[in-house]
Amino acid sequence: MSLVVQKFGGTSVADAQKILAAASKAVARHKAGDQVVVVVSAMGHQTDVLVDLAKQINQRPSAREMDMLLSTGEQVSVALFAMAIQSLGVEAVSLTGAQIGIRTDSTHTKARIKSISTDNVKHNLNEGRIVIAAGFQGIDQCGNITTLGRGGSDTTAVALAAVLAADVCEIYTDVDGIYTTDPRLLPEARRLASIAYDEMLELASLGAGVMHPRSIEFAKKFGVKVHVRSSFKDVPGTLILPAEQTTPRPVSGVALAKNEARITLEGVPDQPGSSHRVFSQLASSGIAVDMIVQNVGQHGRADISFTVPADDLAAALEVTTSVAQQLGAEGVSHDGSLAKVSVVGVGMAREEGVAGHLFSALSRKGINVRMITTSEIKISVLIHRDDAAAAVQAAHRAFGLEAEAMGGGADGSAAALPKSSPLDVVRRLEGMEDLAVEDVTLDSSQALVTFTDLPDKPGVAADVFEEVGRAKLFVDMIVQSHPRGGKAELSFTVPSSDRERAIDVSGRIATSLGAIVVDVPHVAKLSITGVGIRSHAGMADRLFAPLTEAGINIDLVSTSEVRLNVIVAAKHGEKSLHILRRAFGL
Ligand code: ADP
Ligand code: ASP
Ligand code: MG
Repeated sequence: MSLVVQKFGGTSVADAQKILAAASKAVARHKAGDQVVVVVSAMGHQTDVLVDLAKQINQRPSAREMDMLLSTGEQVSVALFAMAIQSLGVEAVSLTGAQIGIRTDSTHTKARIKSISTDNVKHNLNEGRIVIAAGFQGIDQCGNITTLGRGGSDTTAVALAAVLAADVCEIYTDVDGIYTTDPRLLPEARRLASIAYDEMLELASLGAGVMHPRSIEFAKKFGVKVHVRSSFKDVPGTLILPAEQTTPRPVSGVALAKNEARITLEGVPDQPGSSHRVFSQLASSGIAVDMIVQNVGQHGRADISFTVPADDLAAALEVTTSVAQQLGAEGVSHDGSLAKVSVVGVGMAREEGVAGHLFSALSRKGINVRMITTSEIKISVLIHRDDAAAAVQAAHRAFGLEAEAMGGGADGSAAALPKSSPLDVVRRLEGMEDLAVEDVTLDSSQALVTFTDLPDKPGVAADVFEEVGRAKLFVDMIVQSHPRGGKAELSFTVPSSDRERAIDVSGRIATSLGAIVVDVPHVAKLSITGVGIRSHAGMADRLFAPLTEAGINIDLVSTSEVRLNVIVAAKHGEKSLHILRRAFGL
């Protein structure tokens, strides 16, 4: 007998007919002898309807009351779903988040799960019932209803699958799996038979709305096998699995975050502690920053740029402007009309020329790249929002994603995942959604090359990385700062052993572009790996604080959902490693 969690999204329960159809899937599983827990979202666009309604009454409704309101959507659908199952002759019981015992913190509208009690669910399953759980909601320690953020039913489903040690978590939705990019945006997108947790985590947090990013955090932390499939068609779907069980590709998918805003603190005195001040104050205002780029700086002053969701721009500007004054910065600039396109693939780190390929494709479409950050498995570029659709298509085609056969069907029979032992799970359930830093590592074998005074126009990043690619240089980190006064700054790292060649090539490129090359023969790169690195608002703060205290300046930063890389002077490498390992309790 298996235990299965099935989650049905809004479109899958949009009307009575669809609820009955979904219920029959659960019943079929039950009749086959499995224990079934169903997690349901609000019907159709009910959550949007409720959000609109609230806005008609109060432009700034309190977060607590929003949660009280929004949680009703799921309460309607679980009751109807249970009735549907009963009408098919099987016992069922609907439970709210509170009735299950999904405990969260008190961050209304984006609460994090702290623990889940399994007693009530298990009791009902053992009595032979199908349990219908309300997605997206929980209860804080004072008994207030909370919600987990839009799209949060996925997280309820995977978290329940984790605590119940379910054999599989099936996500039924209106697409038949995970595609190379949003098929609504680009019809030539292809379905993937499988995708690695880290890839899905990056794609989801970089804008692919198909899965709630935190659901993948749970899946990865607890080894939950997730199967994304269509509610309406009986076709194979996509399995989300550990990287070892998937086919590594340099690029598996392209994600778009359409509503991004950039803020730059211009001319910040370049001394330890500036970044810390900025990011700790943003974190305490509950604003999660995304791309962070600090240029290498000249004349003792540097620019610090970062992006936030466009919705958070006003609040973030308020905080940044006051910090800028405290720091004696020259000014603050911003742009609310940007979008971010990212390419993701676990095989990227093993291939040369991926970046050059992407930048050339964008350049051919005349798209100007405003900022760049990379991690081992993704490259993100910030562009004007009007270029978003063209950029997604160009990136998708650059890696032949429209043509590739993506490895057939996911039949759900991939090798069983090594499950955590029950004791291990119980131990880790305390603080289920806490930031999980797995490791901090030091790489002292890299050299840093920086171009300053690069012209700010389409095709420059392509010029640089096509040439670098032709020289077969193995580029690791790439960071391009926000251009100022028509000039951009671009840095990348290469293995120290390739430094001579890198300088040679860079010198040639710089001459042709009228730029200047600065190089640092040895730098220390520190990588913090784990889960939820970017989505935890305080992460940047926790990173910068201890280094600042030790008087260590951070030269470059790049962030991703599973990794944060920083470059510091080579002489500070060992000390920084020690400090960070201690800061994260390793
Ligand atoms: P549900 O209501 O079932 O939770 P969502 O609307 O949240 O469904 O997610 C499904 C939608 O996600 C799809 O209709 C699709 O447009 C969008 N989507 C975005 N990126 C991708 C992707 N890479 N693969 C598949 N779907 C995607
Ligand atoms: N109903 C909630 C929303 O629309 C949660 C979900 O569907 O996952 O965001
Ligand atoms: Mg969803």
